[in-house]
Amino acid sequence: MRILLVEDDPDLSRQLKLALSDAGYAVDHAPDGEEGHFLGETEPYDAVILDLGLPKIDGVSVLEKWRRENVATPVLILTARDNWSQKVAGFDAGADDYLTKPFHTEELLARLRALVRRSAGHASPQLSCGGLRLDPRAARASVNGEPLRLTSLEYRLLHYMMMHQGRVISRTELVEHLYDQDFDRDSNTIEVFIGRVRKKIGQDRIETVRGLGYRIMALEGESDA
Ligand code: CA
Repeated sequence: MRILLVEDDPDLSRQLKLALSDAGYAVDHAPDGEEGHFLGETEPYDAVILDLGLPKIDGVSVLEKWRRENVATPVLILTARDNWSQKVAGFDAGADDYLTKPFHTEELLARLRALVRRSAGHASPQLSCGGLRLDPRAARASVNGEPLRLTSLEYRLLHYMMMHQGRVISRTELVEHLYDQDFDRDSNTIEVFIGRVRKKIGQDRIETVRGLGYRIMALEGESDA
């Protein structure tokens, strides 16, 4: 899962970037509305955290532009305290959720999990695929009740695939949702990661669809309960 954070306060940005990467997300940061708008328009994020008071272009205008350009990424806006009209303007511009500053990081992370989950069409906070379970709250996964030891990139890969289980996901799509923009991207490394994750969860849980990509599935005879 990859998140765009558009926030001009350097301290808050640093703190949120850290908390988000600790929670298992790849994070890109834009310090003003212009760069934020550009990134949100060109990169496929799983969610955006958008401050409304921004230099160059204000947050509401950024959001209006995205929605006009049919950017459907879920957006959580950060609003100033005691400014209800800003919230209304944000929702009318296409926001999906909001938080009023100052807030607890835990609440931001919880809202983000809900946003990402809802936009991918999942009702339950825990993802399951046969004997495979993933709990985004704890950033942990298990197979048949046995906890998995995953690196942060392996976790991110599994999270994204389980969020979109049953669908064939191309290597390009995986690259776009696993790495931040500063990462030296190479779609060949995806194969290596898939190999490592397969070793941990069981070879047959990830199918290679030749020429198209990968699909994660429950094993034959496994119930998805
Ligand atoms: Ca601000």
